[in-house]
Amino acid sequence: MSEYSIFGEDWRALRKLRAECNLFGLLLLGALMLYVWTGPRFEIVLIPISMILFWLWISSVRRIYEWPCPRCGRPFYKGDLVSPPPHFPKKRCGHCDLAVGT
Ligand SMILES: [Zn+2]
Repeated sequence: MSEYSIFGEDWRALRKLRAECNLFGLLLLGALMLYVWTGPRFEIVLIPISMILFWLWISSVRRIYEWPCPRCGRPFYKGDLVSPPPHFPKKRCGHCDLAVGT
């Protein structure tokens, strides 16, 4: 990816959004695994933390699926027959075929 691409700032924003989504997803998974591992002992702490992490994760997933393509303005992650999971990179816009990094 070129540092001098036209939509460089937009691609950086998308990468940051995906990193947030992955972080919240992993933290949620960790909290749920900890809950399974420790049993009900720490549920007074782990349940609220899991609920907050779930909300953060879902809202970042929603922001990724609504993230507008820098060229056509339509949702970048949608438009294909099957949208990839938000945790994975998508190479092209499903509407105008704009490649990431251009
Ligand atoms: Zn587009």
